[in-house]
Amino acid sequence: PLVLGFETSCDETGIGLVRGQTLLSDALATSMAEHERFGGVVPEIASRAHLEAMVPTVHRSLADAGVTLRDVDAIAVTAGPGLTGALLVGVAAAKAYALALDVPLYGVNHLAAHVAVDELEHGRLAEPAIALLVSGGHSSLLLVPDLAQDVQELGRTIDDAAGEAFDKVARVLDLPFPGGPPIDRAAREGDPRAIAFPRGLTGPRDATYDFSFSGLKTAVARWVEGRQRAGEPVSVADVSASFQEAVVDVLTAKAVRACRDHGVDHLVIGGGVAANSRLRALAQERCDAAGIVLRTPSPRLCTDNGAMVAALGSRLVEAGVPAAPIDLGADSSMPIDLISR
Ligand code: ATP
Ligand code: MG
Ligand code: FE
Repeated sequence: PLVLGFETSCDETGIGLVRGQTLLSDALATSMAEHERFGGVVPEIASRAHLEAMVPTVHRSLADAGVTLRDVDAIAVTAGPGLTGALLVGVAAAKAYALALDVPLYGVNHLAAHVAVDELEHGRLAEPAIALLVSGGHSSLLLVPDLAQDVQELGRTIDDAAGEAFDKVARVLDLPFPGGPPIDRAAREGDPRAIAFPRGLTGPRDATYDFSFSGLKTAVARWVEGRQRAGEPVSVADVSASFQEAVVDVLTAKAVRACRDHGVDHLVIGGGVAANSRLRALAQERCDAAGIVLRTPSPRLCTDNGAMVAALGSRLVEAGVPAAPIDLGADSSMPIDLISR
């Protein structure tokens, strides 16, 4: 089926087209620059920007794929989780297109879509798989028996998400928002062992798959302030590398342990933080050592986009999952185990 996907959960208006598991186009408009001076996404600004970008982005996606609206077989839209006002713009637009074209509508989970996007590049996911989902608002370890209808959460962050920690540490270091990419770049010139930052929830008695990054964020801020107060120089490269190492060490250790504990030999990493070069390298190293097959989408597809929504929609159509009712609403706190509604 040819599936048109709508993503508006945060500051990206993403419209993607997928046929089966083949990526046809992935058009993106972003209001990121408009939020930068606030140091975070402003919901009202994001909603307005989605509204303005919607129709032109749909047309760009169709033109890039060389298809017309009449070719579309189904529509998928992010129903949640995310910013309510932002989600509503996508849901309203998707409903309008579905009604006008008389095609089924699927309200999909944004987090499951971050995992599903990998299928566009690496084919059908071997199930069961373990998925590490690390993004701006979420950090979870998932057991995925069936991406279309059965996703179980093994653990999650008890405070900050991994991406949130990158964004907050970037602020402390005077790096631009969002903080992931500039920290990733700065870390390449730094020493990951320069400073021993804490690894949350990794003590010998910690048997959970939960994460905690707020203590790490505070430790980095204290360390930097201490240096500044003492009039000593702060190496942005060393702090970035040491902070990043602490995050990816914990993420990869717990992901590999989840695979072992559940007898699963496939790991997929998704979400914006999956674009991190050190996370990808360390995960590969540890998966190789443990005999686990690792899959990570290209960095471009790790952050929010419409193709990931179309990819999950396509999976739902193929699995025969019922379409959404036309009174589908947005669910800002849609739980991860609810794949579609
Ligand atoms: P969610 O998916 O939880 O709703 P979101 O949609 O805002 O949140 P994504 O777009 O999936 O999040 O990811 C954005 C996050 O990814 C930001 O916190 C950003 O700093 C982080 N990120 C992006 N690139 C990198 C990178 N190279 N290294 C580390 N973090 C990164
Ligand atoms: Mg974003
Ligand atoms: Fe996201």
